[in-house]
Amino acid sequence: MTLLRLHKVKRTYSTRQGLFGETEQVSAVNGVSLSLERGRTVGLVGESGCGKSTTGRLALGIELPDSGDVTFDGTRLPHPNTKAWKALRRRMQLIFQDPLGALDRRLTIGAQIKEPLAIHKIGSPADHEGQVHRLLAAVGMRPDQAASYPHELSGGQRQRAILARALATSPDILVCDEPVSALDVSIQAQVVNLLLDLQKEFGLAMLFISHDLKLVGCLAHEVAVMYLGLIVEQGEPATLYNEPAHPYTKALLAAVPDSTRRGPRPLLSGEPPNPAARPTGCAFHPRCPIAVPKCSQVEPALLPRADGRLVACHLAHVESAAGEKVS
Ligand code: SF4
Repeated sequence: MTLLRLHKVKRTYSTRQGLFGETEQVSAVNGVSLSLERGRTVGLVGESGCGKSTTGRLALGIELPDSGDVTFDGTRLPHPNTKAWKALRRRMQLIFQDPLGALDRRLTIGAQIKEPLAIHKIGSPADHEGQVHRLLAAVGMRPDQAASYPHELSGGQRQRAILARALATSPDILVCDEPVSALDVSIQAQVVNLLLDLQKEFGLAMLFISHDLKLVGCLAHEVAVMYLGLIVEQGEPATLYNEPAHPYTKALLAAVPDSTRRGPRPLLSGEPPNPAARPTGCAFHPRCPIAVPKCSQVEPALLPRADGRLVACHLAHVESAAGEKVS
């Protein structure tokens, strides 16, 4: 069942550049469509600055799109900071990369888990102590750790505490923005396993944003690869990772260390272009090793292939089953 749907969302920022402070329009998200379903995870991957985090904020309604729709349970998300939005936000939680920055250093973990219970009037204040202990247990922490301050916990424990706080409102959706990239590799696996357990237990829909393709492949039911504000390939991880169709996906996968790989690796050259000076046609064409003249003139649409995945590339043999654009 689809809980959250982004339909052709676009978000542009105005920035000041240069000696004279000229205004530039930076297109962070340029027409993204995604669906989140209960009990399933969509992984959003791509290089830094490709629009992943902005997409996450648009999904939660923290930012409004310039155009396109975000619907939750079939209803368009209300304007941020309205009563209706606050009521909905209880059902959607965001997990950040930096657990220390996301916690208040002056408050105990228990006090911080009680905050959303009080704000959303969940249970009576007399019950909150017990609820804190239950939430800590759900994320593998001891009841006495409710009395700890953030600096007294390890990075992994802090991320567990943030998950306990997020679960306090019984959310339907978790948007996890690089949730383990600040943690040691050994701790990353523990937190990812915890997320998978919590998803099973609570039927959470997750949007997992990461630059780490390998990690996303381990936990996502569907992976969407973003480049310069657009999804360029989307499908099941097994198909997408074993036979990437888009040259950008191929290059990203080639950059993942793999001792068993044989043959040449299509490494990515150059930096992503400035989003304020978006290339014409396919935005990837200045870095694409197989670009043809058409690529700099015509933007490829994201179209379904026979194997069910979506690809935006003129040369990826994309035959639309329905004969129509999907984004
Ligand atoms: Fe490369 Fe052209 Fe495909 Fe873009 S459309 S990824 S430039 S081949």
